[in-house]
Amino acid sequence: MKTELAPSRTAGTVRSSQGIPKPHGRAMIREDFTVFTPSVSVQGYQYLVDFGSGSEHRFHRVNKNKECSCGAAYCEAIDAVRFYLQAGGARAPDPEGMPPCPICGSKTYRDRNWDGKYTKELGWRCTKGGLRHFLDAKAERIKKNLAENPWLIPPAPGYPGVRRDELMTWEECEAISRKVFLETGYDPTA
Ligand SMILES: [Zn+2]
Ligand SMILES: [Zn+2]
Repeated sequence: MKTELAPSRTAGTVRSSQGIPKPHGRAMIREDFTVFTPSVSVQGYQYLVDFGSGSEHRFHRVNKNKECSCGAAYCEAIDAVRFYLQAGGARAPDPEGMPPCPICGSKTYRDRNWDGKYTKELGWRCTKGGLRHFLDAKAERIKKNLAENPWLIPPAPGYPGVRRDELMTWEECEAISRKVFLETGYDPTA
């Protein structure tokens, strides 16, 4: 009979442990598992790494951006996926719903660090232009939004209203200024 340390975890419930980043060192694997090689399989657009039933934190999910679901930056599961791919393991498919780069049309991949805090837009990087293309596209979108809907709070009698651009960060404004200058030769900061 097998006794598991953790209450049986199914594929969907590991998420709950995401908030507690836990380094997954060798020490966490029981002695009798020191020669154990974690099994790697493709699950959706990610890799499922199984450290075996002897491991406290058994299942890890590594995405194509080399991030592990456990939150540890140097999780062993990330290495396991690298070895697995080097050994010729099947690659996970590219996530659908990540549209091609709007700047150059190359593939993009998720980058959670650039998820919009307020806009809930998904962060990404371009495989060719990297983060630059993400920022270019973002500036482009902000500019378009501004042109279509410049008012956050429209003016009313006796109230001047609040324009969206008054609430933007200087980085965003600077990016837009640069774009306007490149496209029209007009320097808004001059
Ligand atoms: Zn992990
Ligand atoms: Zn691009």
